Amino acid sequence: MARTVLVTGGNRGIGLAIAQAFAKQGDRVAVTHRSGDAPEGLFGVRADVTDAASIDAAFTAVEAELGPVEVLVSNAGMTADTLLLRMTEEQFTGVVDTNLTGAFRVAKRASGKMLRAKWGRMIFISSVVGLAGGAGQVNYAASKAGLVGVARSITRELGSRNITANVVAPGFIDTDMTAVLPEDRKAEIRKSIPAGRMASPEEVAAVVTWLASDSAGYVSGAVIPVDGGLGMGH
Ligand code: NDP
Repeated sequence: MARTVLVTGGNRGIGLAIAQAFAKQGDRVAVTHRSGDAPEGLFGVRADVTDAASIDAAFTAVEAELGPVEVLVSNAGMTADTLLLRMTEEQFTGVVDTNLTGAFRVAKRASGKMLRAKWGRMIFISSVVGLAGGAGQVNYAASKAGLVGVARSITRELGSRNITANVVAPGFIDTDMTAVLPEDRKAEIRKSIPAGRMASPEEVAAVVTWLASDSAGYVSGAVIPVDGGLGMGH
């Protein structure tokens, strides 16, 4: 059955691959984009996840065009890496505001319609770093670890209404976010990954579409790594 899907930050990288995977299986897909244009062939709404009013307007536009959001993929995220000693409070709260409070804002906005429909899927894109930590990433790791508490609390609150909330924790994925890493650092990273390589965004998308499917209806509050074995143990 075709569903209405909203992917935040769906204009590039992992978000775009997720949106395209849903579109390919016949779902009605909308993406939020903060900058630039909507990707070709997908319904785009402009939104900044740090701004609740812009999220509300985006959901209202999606509801008018495609119907209530049944599958929410909270993917928009950013990094501002630096060592703890140098990290400013703005660098900490800025990353948390986008990655964690942004996810709270979209989940809250989506939840009313999901409750009414007695069906919904929320998928939060976290990171291996949220569970294993990362030097220079106190802000990012805190924001990504927080998503686990968000998903598990939503599972407890809304689980009896056919609403699931899960976390996908990617390792190193080939996108703009990792393209900025120096080549020697990338080689080092590849060596530490049991699979010996980074992943494509499509490999993350495959897990997300499965979590949204009817066959994953009894999976909730889970943290699913897509990391080639990098984080084993969480
Ligand atoms: P990109 O940097 O390629 O894309 C990030 C996306 O998030 C863009 O669409 C960007 O919009 C959007 N975004 C950032 N801030 C905001 C905001 N305030 N409001 C709305 N949209 C925003 O990243 P990836 O595709 O690599 O990452 C996607 C998600 O996956 C992120 O949450 C990231 O933390 C996570 N992740 C990525 C990994 C990787 O190795 N690449 C590994 C683990 C997790 P715009 O185009 O306007 O900037």
